[in-house]
Amino acid sequence: MKKDDCIFCKIANGEIPSSTLYEDDDFRIFLDLAPASKGHALIVPKEHFDNLYELSDEKASKALVLAKKTISKMTEALKCDGFNVLQNNNECAGQTVYHFHMHLIPRYKGDDVGLKWTPGENTQEERDEIVNKVRAI
Ligand code: 5GP
Ligand code: ZN
Repeated sequence: MKKDDCIFCKIANGEIPSSTLYEDDDFRIFLDLAPASKGHALIVPKEHFDNLYELSDEKASKALVLAKKTISKMTEALKCDGFNVLQNNNECAGQTVYHFHMHLIPRYKGDDVGLKWTPGENTQEERDEIVNKVRAI
């Protein structure tokens, strides 16, 4: 299903042009218009899912296989030194387009792409509490 007011539905289905690296019946991979680094691309399903919570198992599996194949191709083509593969769910996590997508961000030695967090601390008690809560569901 497509969603009428969704920009990524329109791009993925070819209604809005994009710099497409790859396309099949289910996905389009295109360049981000505001790239974190040279070659920053997005893997986007043609069907609308708001986020990873909603994505079908079938598309989830396919997205990761596409990510794997695409970063290998892009590493060879762009001569980058590594890749960040990530995706955001909900506003607090940085999601700005509410159609599932996976970021492929080429990394170059010495680049200034900022995807870091400050390592925190936790106790065994806190870890046990989290484990118990999650395993109870
Ligand atoms: P999010 O913040 O939701 O994880 O990522 C959304 C991404 O989509 C951003 O990196 C943003 O630059 C990109 N983006 C937003 N609108 C467009 C667009 O119209 N075309 C393309 N190619 N990328 C877009
Ligand atoms: Zn959509």
